[in-house]
Amino acid sequence: MRIDELHFLVAEDHDFQRKTLVRMLTSMGAKRVSEAADGRAALGIFIDLTPPVDIIISDLDMPGMDGMAFMRHLGELGVPVSVILSSALDSSLISSVETMTKAYGITLLGAIEKPITPQKLEAMVRNYVAPQRKAAKTAAAVFTLEEIREGLTKGQFEPFFQPKVNIADGHVSGAEALARWRHPVKGVVAPYAFITEMENNGLIDQLTWKMLEIAAQRCREWMGRGLDATVSVNLSLKSLSDSGLADHITELVAAQKLAPKCMVLEITESAAMTDLAKALENLTRLRMKGFGLSIDDYGTGYSSMQQLSRIPFTELKIDQGFVLSAIEKSASKVILSSSLEMAKNLKLKSVAEGVETQAHWNLLKGLGCDIAQGYFVAKPMDAKAFEDWVLEWTPPE
Ligand code: C2E
Ligand code: CA
Ligand code: CA
Repeated sequence: MRIDELHFLVAEDHDFQRKTLVRMLTSMGAKRVSEAADGRAALGIFIDLTPPVDIIISDLDMPGMDGMAFMRHLGELGVPVSVILSSALDSSLISSVETMTKAYGITLLGAIEKPITPQKLEAMVRNYVAPQRKAAKTAAAVFTLEEIREGLTKGQFEPFFQPKVNIADGHVSGAEALARWRHPVKGVVAPYAFITEMENNGLIDQLTWKMLEIAAQRCREWMGRGLDATVSVNLSLKSLSDSGLADHITELVAAQKLAPKCMVLEITESAAMTDLAKALENLTRLRMKGFGLSIDDYGTGYSSMQQLSRIPFTELKIDQGFVLSAIEKSASKVILSSSLEMAKNLKLKSVAEGVETQAHWNLLKGLGCDIAQGYFVAKPMDAKAFEDWVLEWTPPE
């Protein structure tokens, strides 16, 4: 993304400082910069303006609606936006506001202590990653709740499998189960069209059980044929607030005669994690039983260092956004390589998603990433196609 294509909004009560910021942005190449003198005005502009604002630079201390209240309202809107905080407060205060901002689900590009210099500002703007996938996730569902319910009753949902490949030696180390709806009219439907609807209407557990059951069955069949591969299943946060979840999963896997260590559960922790205690109990119990636990979409603002320290993860899955843009964006590459470094220090297996080309593969290999997943290796496919694919797979150089 080029700076001249981004829409900026500067919220700063101090006229001189606001004008200075606008001038800095303009001289960096920005073409669209909107201004507001407090949080309320900024919020109004943010809601009204098209094209939408990409990056907000906000002061914390403003009369009327201050920066913190502004962040809360932004979080409640649930619209993807990136924020740079600026403040004359001391760094420990700024750091607690940083944590708060992330907890509201906002992508924070950074916090700058005043005075702001063009160098500091530019470095943070360069952290910007366009939120394409987030936008797709909020796209309106094409199916009614009744249609989804009927699909579930008729057993039309199944996992597709996408290979996870060891980068050092090229062997297939596992597969991620991704839900697909075999719709009688629309054909194979991807999860964006039904997951959120299921989550919001108490249907997600039905899908999860189906996914876990088939994934466990398939994984055991692979074992039987000499393919020593794990299977990963996505767990919705909604399911984690059921305190019986860990025991249910353990029973289900036992019934399929699969060892828990062959299954990895992927979790994207979000700001909306309402029942933290129950989620922690479930995750810790699953880990104690031997399941792998993966932190999904790492780096997207929801998943932070803190999550890593309180949940006994075994795997860190770096969000495809960073992988995809790491080739041409040095900021993404820095995030990628420092995430890999951290995974190594925490003794977590590192997985990169969104490996689309040989260039991505080479970069990850150079950075010492353990596992690659992405279109360069293979797209998600049904169980039969996956089994055929494994037999024909030849690792890249
Ligand atoms: P995710 O867990 O981050 O899964 C990775 C997504 O990236 C998949 O999208 C996959 O098809 C896609 N992908 C894989 N390789 C590449 C690549 O090289 N480039 C690009 N651009 N994309 C790639 P999919 O299958 O549409 O799934 C979307 C999301 O839906 C998943 O994101 C996951 O959050 C959710 N989901 C899928 N299955 C389930 C499920 O059974 N339960 C729950 N709760 N969520 C699920
Ligand atoms: Ca996943
Ligand atoms: Ca992911």
